[in-house]
Amino acid sequence: MIRRASLLALVCAGAPACAPPQSSVAPRPLPEAAPVHVARDNPFAGARFYVDPGFVAKVEATAASTPARADQIRRVEAFPTAVWLDSIASVASVSRHLDAALALQKSSGQPVVTLFVIYDLPERDCSAKASAGELTASNRGEERYKTEFIAPIAAQFRAHDAQRIAVVVEPDSLANVATNLSVGRCAAAEGIYRRSLAAAIRALALPNVSLYLDAAHAGWLGWGSNRRKIARIFRDVLDAAGGVDLVRGFATNVSNYDSLHDGDIARLEPSDPCHDEIGYVEKLTESLAELGIAGKGFVIDTARNGRAGIRTKSASWCNIKGAGLGARPQASPAPGIDAYWWVKPPGDSDGGSDPNGPGFDDACGPAAADSAQGAPPAGQWFVPYFLQLVENADPPV
Ligand code: BGC
Repeated sequence: MIRRASLLALVCAGAPACAPPQSSVAPRPLPEAAPVHVARDNPFAGARFYVDPGFVAKVEATAASTPARADQIRRVEAFPTAVWLDSIASVASVSRHLDAALALQKSSGQPVVTLFVIYDLPERDCSAKASAGELTASNRGEERYKTEFIAPIAAQFRAHDAQRIAVVVEPDSLANVATNLSVGRCAAAEGIYRRSLAAAIRALALPNVSLYLDAAHAGWLGWGSNRRKIARIFRDVLDAAGGVDLVRGFATNVSNYDSLHDGDIARLEPSDPCHDEIGYVEKLTESLAELGIAGKGFVIDTARNGRAGIRTKSASWCNIKGAGLGARPQASPAPGIDAYWWVKPPGDSDGGSDPNGPGFDDACGPAAADSAQGAPPAGQWFVPYFLQLVENADPPV
């Protein structure tokens, strides 16, 4: 997925410390009927974080095959990553994750929050090639998205109504509508995106579910004109879904590399008033308020933004060389921010670097100066890249 290179540049030119996985508070039993979380509140506050065993297994295998660094690598196993639901087949994993989170909630006596990303929109990744999905306009994708993807996810969420669920909704989709309608596939997908997202929001807005719409990042939508466009699109899609109160907030920097503070954008994009993700959240909050979207919380992806100064273009998005793990997942790290989270599981590739491989995008290949080579296709585990992220972590691991 993620991060329009050349087109983005074109469009843009125009226009902490870890939340402890273990609580130091003595466990106490939950009451029989655990109070249902109200999705208006920050779902991360006061919660333990569900850690995906699939991520832990990949890290563990890497530690086992890298004995000299195994101790440091294993420390990464304590941190939560998002569970990506990126295909109809992946929906079957939802109840397994939520059952495990519920077991932890019962044994610890503390609420446990699980973060999912839903990522299977028809005509997915319309402005790039690395993360094209299974659903299209021509294979009844719009209908199948609702009935075979969103509906069974909603059913599983309803069946786990005593636990907190956070959801990042369809990375890149509405940002592509905001800035990339000059790409034919995005123009053709616009209506499908808007309708499918409204339907998804309507179906998933449950009392125990906190929805965060993807809002791209400072280097994509930071400019005033782009912020006004995305705010208008959010407003329209939320109105179509049933109102702005259906979502808890917005997610930024998903799978991207922008720093929280003092990043590269001032140097790389001097006309962008948002120099980093915290600055972007502040200014986007203002743009949203102008359209009556207020009181929202943000999730920022800090999986790979520990180091600045590693890109030659703000639009580079694929397996950026020199990146390091960023702030550890934590609740309420700054005003208006619900959580920092490792949304992109660090170690998963952004896209394959082999020009003859599946889903090849030039932004990931030999001509992309900022991108690590030897990369497997998007979503697959990229061992040397994971080792680099651990080595360059800031704060250090
Ligand atoms: C891929 C998805 C994957 C996600 C998390 C995306 O780039 O397209 O298949 O689940 O990254 O690694």
